[in-house]
Amino acid sequence: MKILSVNAGSSSLKFTLIELPEQEVIVSGTFEKIGISGSFYTIKYNGEKIKKESELKDHKDAVKILLDSLIELKIISSYDEISGVGHRLVHGGDKYTESVVIDDDVIKEVEKLIPLAPLHNPANLVGIRSFKEILPNTPMVAVFDTAFHQTMDKEEYLYAVPYSWYEKYGVRRYGFHGTSHRYISEKMFEYLGEHKKIINCHIGNGASICAIKDGKSIATSMGFTPIAGVIMGTRCGDIDLGLIPYVMSCENKTFEEVMTDLNKNSGMAALSGLSSDMRDVEDAYMQKDPRCITAINMYVKKIVDYIVMYNALLEGTDYITFTAGVGENSDIIRELVIKRLAFMNVKLNEEANTGLRGKFAQISAGDSSIKVMVVPTDEELMIAKDTYNLINN
Ligand code: ADP
Repeated sequence: MKILSVNAGSSSLKFTLIELPEQEVIVSGTFEKIGISGSFYTIKYNGEKIKKESELKDHKDAVKILLDSLIELKIISSYDEISGVGHRLVHGGDKYTESVVIDDDVIKEVEKLIPLAPLHNPANLVGIRSFKEILPNTPMVAVFDTAFHQTMDKEEYLYAVPYSWYEKYGVRRYGFHGTSHRYISEKMFEYLGEHKKIINCHIGNGASICAIKDGKSIATSMGFTPIAGVIMGTRCGDIDLGLIPYVMSCENKTFEEVMTDLNKNSGMAALSGLSSDMRDVEDAYMQKDPRCITAINMYVKKIVDYIVMYNALLEGTDYITFTAGVGENSDIIRELVIKRLAFMNVKLNEEANTGLRGKFAQISAGDSSIKVMVVPTDEELMIAKDTYNLINN
């Protein structure tokens, strides 16, 4: 059965077509600059990458080209061969604790949640509507980034702010990257045959740490929005909010401008003064660039802070897992994190840690108090699996 896994952004649409239950990726691609001049798309199929410039007025154009390309490539012979479409949705509020089949009520609920994710949920909805128009009879499923974290305790998700903000407006920690954290949790369950206490470090351009017990999220570092927690590519992570009005007056900036700085011009980009891409910062770190040394040390320290905090919360941890762009590919970041945990007797197997490039592997030494693994994430597969499971029930 062919399932499309879709991630629609405001001017982009990413897709992966997966054969299930075999879990085989057939084709994937990205449509970019939708509704903007210079739009183009790329399709990866059979080890080849096809790039084409094409006017994409809106997401519907992208969906049509995507489906017609599948026919042209002889992957399908008619649209009916797409058995289901799974959509990534950023925010499910506290309404959705798991993935759901999309109907009119779900669309209404996701619309109601727009104030909580004003940039993402509208774009995700455009994706859903575009597919619904072109594939009106194909079942669709919504997979929420927040859903996995709905198992957190109140003590973990409340903020110490006026209680009415929570009651009236839903001000609380929601957490994100839930589809990835759940994928790692399920992968580890598959590998171990039982649930263990896991601290998963999803560190990519965006980054979050998650404490997982009995296959459930009990704490996570992102909060009401994805700006909170560890240091990211361009986001600041945890900061003292009191600096915001101060910078607004120093730089004569509006609140929105300062928030843009905190979301887009902070994190590793700001600390390094060089790049938001960890590869660039690491290169400069190796050449002993002082700002990049500080940047990487701060980045690592913040991850360690969360690991130590979650180790206490879990009352001991069995596994630390690394995933996403940095977690899967950066030997250096993993090594620096694990070395800072030496006081807890966590030990690295340096040889196992090198050159993994996204391979599933154990990287801790045999006598490490906590086992450490690299577990490549696959959010697209998770979305496709949820879709497959829901439409076959
Ligand atoms: P996103 O949050 O956008 O999904 P990814 O998980 O794809 O991000 O991670 C992208 C980031 O991973 C890049 O910005 C880069 O910093 C980092 N990265 C990718 N490859 C490497 C590598 N070989 N070494 C270090 N960092 C890497």
